[in-house]
Amino acid sequence: MISTRGDLHRHDEIAESLSAVRSTIPPTCTLIVVTKTFPSSDVKILYQLGERNFGENRDEEGSAKALELPADAIWHFQGQIQSKKIRSIVNWADYIHSLDEVSHAKKISERCHELGNSIKTFIQINLDNADALSQEKSSRGGISPDQLDQFTDSIVGLPGIEIVGVMAVAPLGQDPEPAFERLAQLSRQLQGKIPSATSISAGMSNDYEIALQYGATHIRIGSSILGRREGHL
Ligand SMILES: *Cc1c(COP(=O)(O)O)cnc(C)c1O
Repeated sequence: MISTRGDLHRHDEIAESLSAVRSTIPPTCTLIVVTKTFPSSDVKILYQLGERNFGENRDEEGSAKALELPADAIWHFQGQIQSKKIRSIVNWADYIHSLDEVSHAKKISERCHELGNSIKTFIQINLDNADALSQEKSSRGGISPDQLDQFTDSIVGLPGIEIVGVMAVAPLGQDPEPAFERLAQLSRQLQGKIPSATSISAGMSNDYEIALQYGATHIRIGSSILGRREGHL
């Protein structure tokens, strides 16, 4: 797999940044390497280095990469869900982190039923403050925190959907600490309804150490391991 000089350089580069990140996270926490926008050759290097959990935001990209990696790779879909992509997403993703609409949950459930499988799902919560929510409503995913009980009740019985916990992205340009603290509260609230839903998907390259302090069980790290992405994803 590693044949050219360039690949060797990339292997060493990824190995170095990966071990730096790995040294700061406890073994009980699941590291998801967010490979969106990076080529599958990078994912293969990560796989060789022992990583198994990969995060993708787009169906086309995730499904193509999943085909190129061994079957024991675990794929996390964490992008905005589009209704027409659900059939495909369920084919390759093992986890969905970004569930925030009951209609999507129903579609996912129907599709899982057809395939005879199930998918692990986080409920995404929008932790932007109320002002930011009204200004920039469409830009970020997630239900609002006060919808959590009602949302959970609407999806809890759906076959094929295993609700594993809550997910959030900290508000842009603000102290992430209050957001992660709130997410920990919401996790306890969810566990009141679903005791097994103990997972917390929180923390990215620039805030994961704080997320860990507030109980993150799944952290999603891209740029600290793979470098800067082109564009805005
Ligand atoms: C891109 C992305 C990440 C990774 O972000 P980095 O800052 O590169 O670590 C994590 N979570 C979500 C939902 C993302 O879209």
